Amino acid sequence: MEFRDTAEESAFRKEVSTFIKGNLPGSLVGVSAFEEPDDEDIRNALKEWRRAVGRQGWTAPHWPKQYGGAGMSVTEQFIYSEEMAESRAPQVGGSGVAMLGPVLIRFGTEEQQREHLPRITSGEVQWCQGYSEPGSGSDLASLQTRAIRDGDDFVVNGQKIWTSGAHRADWMFMLARTDPDAPKHRGISMLLMDMKSPGISVQPLITLAGDHVFNQEYFDNVRVPAKNIVGDENRGWYVGAALLDFERSNIAGAIGHKHFVNDIVAAVKSTPAKYALGPRLKRVRNELADRAVEAEIARLISYRLITIQKRGGVPNYEASMHKNYGAELGQRIASTGIYLLGMLGGLHHNSALAPIKGRINHAYLSTVASTIAAGTSEVNRNVIATRGLGLPRS
Ligand SMILES: Cc1cc2nc3c(=O)[nH]c(=O)nc-3n(C[C@H](O)[C@H](O)[C@H](O)COP(=O)(O)OP(=O)(O)OC[C@H]3O[C@@H](n4cnc5c(N)ncnc54)[C@H](O)[C@@H]3O)c2cc1C
Repeated sequence: MEFRDTAEESAFRKEVSTFIKGNLPGSLVGVSAFEEPDDEDIRNALKEWRRAVGRQGWTAPHWPKQYGGAGMSVTEQFIYSEEMAESRAPQVGGSGVAMLGPVLIRFGTEEQQREHLPRITSGEVQWCQGYSEPGSGSDLASLQTRAIRDGDDFVVNGQKIWTSGAHRADWMFMLARTDPDAPKHRGISMLLMDMKSPGISVQPLITLAGDHVFNQEYFDNVRVPAKNIVGDENRGWYVGAALLDFERSNIAGAIGHKHFVNDIVAAVKSTPAKYALGPRLKRVRNELADRAVEAEIARLISYRLITIQKRGGVPNYEASMHKNYGAELGQRIASTGIYLLGMLGGLHHNSALAPIKGRINHAYLSTVASTIAAGTSEVNRNVIATRGLGLPRS
């Protein structure tokens, strides 16, 4: 791995950082684009930020240019994400850019590409991912939501759960069972469902941290035009699995960890003496140093993934390693923060005394889900054990 930029890479890094300096208002620094901010000014500023990134042509960094993407190389994408994360800029795009777009580019009809891709890059349309069901998460291929062909439509009945952003999404890309008699991986199709279709009910699920991030949806005879199938009927499992090929190293996560450790240090330093963190600080100084070192290790694992991709490979067990390390590190940093700051660390953001706007408390509660979302730690450990270490399957 060469850590230094080439002359071209360094010029591109400068271009990204100049763009950020010129367009990112201070009010958006550190704002998460995936949670609905209460403040209307922030919501408007976010819209303007999305537009500015769109005008620059960077909403979909990894898509080819002919589909409205930026056509960036693997290294350019990495530099772009690194600079955005270093500046704590809100991410743009969501699952339409990260997941659906690449699938439509590879498997979609021309009509689907024409209809959906421009509205994803313009930010006009938000997508959600309807895969998980109450009985089907890790064992996704057991999903039961049915789609039965009726004339020019599929009629969908069933339930999805844990769907991030479904309450704000205009469309859902979903997996549904189209052949119940086929072996479980072979009877599934991917459908594009307009969330305004009659028969969909979206119910909020509030997380431990009090956020409305995900939802459950019920489908009661929802009609989806047959032209909205992506790829061949009953081959949806393979279309869905192709999403993994587009997985990118999440450098933003690693840099976020580093920022969080630094924020905790700053919070400790600015805590008035009367709260007597001193004795506690002495005891956990080494633990805090460990977190700082681990944040750096997370960054280096990202570099390992990007090196594999630069050489034309697709990270396999390395991606599971990276996911687990980052998710578990987020939990450890939050625990260290809570312990260091004592009762202050546990304060909610609406308390004037809460250090760093209550982020320690929020992270402590919200990172519980990170070892479940996008593949649980246990399932990832199975991948590391069998594909990485070559251990037997059972
Ligand atoms: C914050 C968040 C956002 C999410 N967003 C979305 C979304 O937008 N769209 C979507 O479709 N889904 C989403 N999900 C769902 C997520 O993909 C599932 O929760 C995840 O795949 C786990 O499935 P499950 O919850 O059904 O748990 P299960 O698969 O039932 O697992 C239960 C327990 O059993 C363990 N386990 C299961 N199988 C094995 C095995 N083979 N070996 C060892 N242990 C095993 C698991 O590790 C876990 O501890 C989200 C989840 C979270 C937490």
